[in-house]
Amino acid sequence: MPKQLLAQLVQKEEIIKNVYKFSIKADEIVQISKPGNFIEIRVTDQAEPFLRRPISIYNLDKQNGILEFIFQVKGKGTSLLSRKQIGDKIDIVGPLGFGTFKTDKYKKLAIIGGGIGIFPLYQLAKEAKNEEKQVNGYLGFRNKDFVMLEKEFKNVTNNLTITTDDGSYKNKGFAIDYLIKDMEKEKYDCIYACGPIPMLKAIQKYANENNIECQISLEEKMACGLGVCLGCAVKTAKSPKEKPEYFHVCKGGPVFNSKDVEI
Ligand SMILES: Cc1cc2nc3c(=O)[nH]c(=O)nc-3n(C[C@H](O)[C@H](O)[C@H](O)COP(=O)(O)OP(=O)(O)OC[C@H]3O[C@@H](n4cnc5c(N)ncnc54)[C@H](O)[C@@H]3O)c2cc1C
Repeated sequence: MPKQLLAQLVQKEEIIKNVYKFSIKADEIVQISKPGNFIEIRVTDQAEPFLRRPISIYNLDKQNGILEFIFQVKGKGTSLLSRKQIGDKIDIVGPLGFGTFKTDKYKKLAIIGGGIGIFPLYQLAKEAKNEEKQVNGYLGFRNKDFVMLEKEFKNVTNNLTITTDDGSYKNKGFAIDYLIKDMEKEKYDCIYACGPIPMLKAIQKYANENNIECQISLEEKMACGLGVCLGCAVKTAKSPKEKPEYFHVCKGGPVFNSKDVEI
């Protein structure tokens, strides 16, 4: 059951330009959260913006009750959030999302993320590595200025491949091409993905065509986060054209099996 808390901001860091990592004290939520869950944040006490903003859980420190999330400043909501100071209380609801990453059946995992979509993959990789699963990571960024969390992901993976579209840092090209190349030598049991839609589409196509298990986290635009407003609909994969059927990312997801959704 999601909880609403006033969580104290205990650490704040701008990890790259306009991207902030917040550490908040939120023990009640931390203890019941799973990889792939997200929280909804009320960014201001003022009337505007009224809607909470959904942000993925990046890291859970269960011992100290600390929840970490990372966000990019995009518009008014995230800009207001970025101005919070250490000691401030932040109004959050979580954990949200019934569709979370599932790893029980798998031993060899590939995580693949792009840009600001890499955040929900961290806790997943951390828990899987602690359970002695093999976790290989593929993280793609536009160019060297957008590369982040390399050291952190190195610590929670057996092997990490970093790519930049323009080759300005590490490997040139798209992360998925490196994953596919590695798959020729070594088959993963499941691929876990989060990132921009074109990247997710390419991963979904590859996984579905090759019958590889794949779980995709969708960061669809969302309003209530509780399945009430129905704003974050995505079509189900086998939905008939004349009478489409939908999942709602906030409740059904944000993580879906790649075979179940049309993205
Ligand atoms: C389940 C979920 C998890 C998310 N996790 C993260 C996260 O960990 N870190 C992070 O930085 N962001 C994350 N997002 C996206 C984040 O919620 C939006 O960037 C944020 O709500 C924008 O609010 P704003 O008021 O700053 O911008 P707005 O003023 O609402 O919008 C500014 C611009 O951002 C675009 N935008 C708004 N929402 C989204 C979205 N969901 N996807 C793409 N573009 C959007 C708008 O179209 C507009 O162009 C997540 C979204 C979802 C649904």
